[in-house]
Amino acid sequence: MGQAEIMNFVDGAFVTGASTFDKLSPVDGQVTATVHEAGRAEVDAAVTAARRALDGPWGRTSVADRARVLRRIADRIEERFEDFVEAEVRDTGKPVAQARQLDVARAVANFRSFADTVSAAGLDSYLTELPGGRRALNYAIAQPLGVVAVIVPWNLPLLLLTWKVAPALACGNAVVVKPSEETPSTATLLAEVMADAGVPAGVYNVVHGFGPSSAGEFLTTHEGIDGVTFTGESGTGSAIMRAVAPAVRPVSFELGGKNAAIVFADADLDKAVDGLSRSVFANTGQVCLCTERVYVQRPVYDDVVAGLVAKARQLRLGRPEHPDTTTGPLISVAHREKVLSYLALARDEGAETLIGGGVPDLGPDLAGGAWVEPTLWAGLDHGARTVREEVFGPVAALMPFDHEEDAVRLANDTRYGLAAAVWTQNLERGHRVAQRMRVGMAWVNTWFLRDLRSPFGGVGLSGIGREGGQHSLHFYTQPTNVCVQL
Ligand code: NAD
Repeated sequence: MGQAEIMNFVDGAFVTGASTFDKLSPVDGQVTATVHEAGRAEVDAAVTAARRALDGPWGRTSVADRARVLRRIADRIEERFEDFVEAEVRDTGKPVAQARQLDVARAVANFRSFADTVSAAGLDSYLTELPGGRRALNYAIAQPLGVVAVIVPWNLPLLLLTWKVAPALACGNAVVVKPSEETPSTATLLAEVMADAGVPAGVYNVVHGFGPSSAGEFLTTHEGIDGVTFTGESGTGSAIMRAVAPAVRPVSFELGGKNAAIVFADADLDKAVDGLSRSVFANTGQVCLCTERVYVQRPVYDDVVAGLVAKARQLRLGRPEHPDTTTGPLISVAHREKVLSYLALARDEGAETLIGGGVPDLGPDLAGGAWVEPTLWAGLDHGARTVREEVFGPVAALMPFDHEEDAVRLANDTRYGLAAAVWTQNLERGHRVAQRMRVGMAWVNTWFLRDLRSPFGGVGLSGIGREGGQHSLHFYTQPTNVCVQL
């Protein structure tokens, strides 16, 4: 199937844009689609349509109505499951099995989970005692935030988009979505199921394009938006914060990471190595939660290094539809340039490259793709840029440590603070160390195990605020306190 033309979706209709750009396959460099880039006019029309939808019947729907709509969206995605898989794979080159098991499955789960969460949310009310035996009834009603700008990246496009659209709609907002220029397809496909699921025109809009001087900037600087929820690089978060500052709009930011894993000598080493190989190489290292720093207690350091190198050797790079493929390309040749610059920098910084370190030869068919070898480094100094900066590729630095205190200090010695993983069979130590991690999510003996009701976000350069379950409802609503003297 070829969705040769990818349009914007404004006020319930597919529309062209100010210009077009080509979307290239990261697998082989071929053009897969022409994307219509939204100009100021299309962005303005989308924001205006969203406002109108809020003022219309959508603004008067009950929580139960909206929960039903969310469940219908989930059902419609399931009915077209393979279309979503195909679109996601075409844009990202990720293995088909992963798109099925993670990306599209989580999109369905996102809508169902927030239908449950919003249905269970209670009314915040209490009686206030006043002098003389009088009382006042206080309650707070949750109003929608309003027109929400949703800006998302390319690594898990549909998963991260629906992680924000589902709670936004559950709370009665209208959204204008700006997917990554690298992955425009699934947001557009989602538009096709919206009307069918009972979402009125204007509630879900999609504008395509880039960041600066394009749809991203036009949207974040538009005076008609009421807030921005954003997932992407920390630097972009900073730019968006400046863009919304004049209008004083709230933001929810899920940003970059330089995540640590700590392996203690008392860990189940087979499980730890297995978990590390997922946390370093999943999605070709392009998950914000991926591990790029691995601290290993000295007595088991050599074993963990050998185990992880063996796992890296087993990875199979190749076409997404091939059943043996475990690892796809990076998202683009431009992103590969960035990753390759870090591979060169690591060598300059004195790294011993344990495996990988370059561009694989996958034959002439894939020569135009954005392929890079899974790479492991040893011997890097903790001050090295490759230990401090997010690479966002299939790379990790392995470093030995002696004492628990050292591991905690080194893991926390970063400007980021998104996720950490602790591997130990000593449960007390597991809790103790996890609680000392300066991160949003700390896993013990696992990685990327998510309950969608739990808070998700980061500290430091890794973000502002938390989404997930009730935390999402807080961002996507504004409480109004009503006080009635009785
Ligand atoms: P990016 O910041 O380059 O782009 C993200 C989105 O922002 C894209 O849609 C892009 O077009 C848009 N954008 C860029 N500049 C903009 C501007 N000035 N104004 C408005 N919009 C703008 O990020 P990316 O390269 O697409 O994604 C990779 C990054 O995302 C990594 O840093 C990764 O860690 C992070 N990430 C974080 C999480 C999380 O939950 N914390 C999840 C996934 C990815």
